[in-house]
Amino acid sequence: MSHPSVTIIGAGLAGSEAAWQLARRGVTVHLYEMRPHKTTEAHQTDQFAELVCSNSLGARAVDRAMGLLKEEMRRLGSLIIEAADACALPAGGALAVGREAFSDYVTRAISEPPRIIVHREEVTEIPSGPTLIATGPLTSAALADRIRALAGQAYLSFYDALAPIVTLESINTPPCWRQSRYDRDSGESGGDYINCPMNEAQYRAFVQALREAERIPLRQFEREDEKFFEACLPVEVLAQRGDDALAFGPMRPVGLRDPRTGKRPFAVVQLRQDNLAGTLYNLVGFQTNIRWPEQKRIFRMIPGLEDAEFVRLGQMHRNTFINAPALLRPTLQWRDRDDLFFAGQLIGAEGYVGSAAGGLLAGLNLARLVSGQQPVVMPRVTMMGALFHYVTHAEPKDFQPMKANFGIMPPLQPKVRRKKERYQKYAERALAALGVWMKANDLLSQPTPGG
Ligand SMILES: Cc1cc2nc3c(=O)[nH]c(=O)nc-3n(C[C@H](O)[C@H](O)[C@H](O)COP(=O)(O)OP(=O)(O)OC[C@H]3O[C@@H](n4cnc5c(N)ncnc54)[C@H](O)[C@@H]3O)c2cc1C
Repeated sequence: MSHPSVTIIGAGLAGSEAAWQLARRGVTVHLYEMRPHKTTEAHQTDQFAELVCSNSLGARAVDRAMGLLKEEMRRLGSLIIEAADACALPAGGALAVGREAFSDYVTRAISEPPRIIVHREEVTEIPSGPTLIATGPLTSAALADRIRALAGQAYLSFYDALAPIVTLESINTPPCWRQSRYDRDSGESGGDYINCPMNEAQYRAFVQALREAERIPLRQFEREDEKFFEACLPVEVLAQRGDDALAFGPMRPVGLRDPRTGKRPFAVVQLRQDNLAGTLYNLVGFQTNIRWPEQKRIFRMIPGLEDAEFVRLGQMHRNTFINAPALLRPTLQWRDRDDLFFAGQLIGAEGYVGSAAGGLLAGLNLARLVSGQQPVVMPRVTMMGALFHYVTHAEPKDFQPMKANFGIMPPLQPKVRRKKERYQKYAERALAALGVWMKANDLLSQPTPGG
């Protein structure tokens, strides 16, 4: 009996997970990895699923977004989570792993099944036939060119300049209020923007804090690309350029009136809706390279954000990603080609675990496709379902990568006010829905890699 075969490009977090999911369903996988012949700016070894920076895969507890994501993957038979559990180190509430042991575990697992054929070479063209592209944020230049040609110039980004995102419910109103500048586009809500006002003393203290903030040092390859920063300056660099640079830049108060005073404030931080459900807001123009704990401390100085719950913190680094909302279906298939899939950081599912989760779904769906079954979409109330719904349905114009977080999940009915209880309920709802979905799609019994 002949087995179907597929091509996977990239043996990182996403590609390794996908290869495993396919092999255990009896599909022959040709897995292409360019290391060690050609390496990226961040990888150090020739191992699969190398963790290029931190050795943490985030929180363990299932009532935390990252913990829930991992638990869903664990139930779906993820190789990456199995490896992480096997190589776990003591790290409090986080699942940290021995970096080398982890990659070694994945590399061995991938090298064992007879149906995974590893090719150590760079792929420079998009193959025909069933294919998954999982070449990550540092996709080689030749292949990135091919992806850009396929997607269109505007649909491939090379740089992340992310502003922090907070949950709507953690914003204090007052002092914040809704208004668009000059009352443009103000519908029933009163305006599309939430404004956080500052008086002069507050503004000066804030600028000083930004100037003194500890920053993340740029890596060599990022310094070489510093020209990208000029078009999209971090707030701390603007603060350095002059006392009033921010007040005349992203914090200018023109066209706004504080309803408490009836006057224009000295400066404002504007928050713009970030997801369709309207539960998340980003700090407009606040891309930053400040260290994450410092960001929380300094941005909570902004009036109205004293209790802010950050679902994403700002960052700036080299990151190749496609405009997934414009290009992919929620099954992770290319819009116009059924047998072409994308996964990993390249689709904007941020982080090690989010990347591997995409590999899991794409691998599962590719296996279904080549076996004559319909690819599946995950329930939106699961963390995986919410993440892949987000990356394939966000506003394409402003699309930026997103990490797993509860803000992208459909709200609970009825609402639960206390955060701890709310997160617990999200997790219970997600795992119950996952169980029903797995049963409906015959995923409860786990096949072995021999197929
Ligand atoms: C510098 C940096 C630091 C990061 N730090 C963290 C962190 O601390 N925590 C976190 O959660 N996330 C981090 N990320 C984000 C992201 O989670 C990781 O990049 C993650 O490894 C992405 O998984 P992936 O499978 O999409 O890509 P990768 O793990 O990068 O795998 C892609 C693979 O494809 C190969 N490849 C590329 N082009 C080709 C080609 N043309 N032909 C064949 N093979 C190719 C690469 O060699 C690589 O092995 C970081 C990203 C970067 C760039």
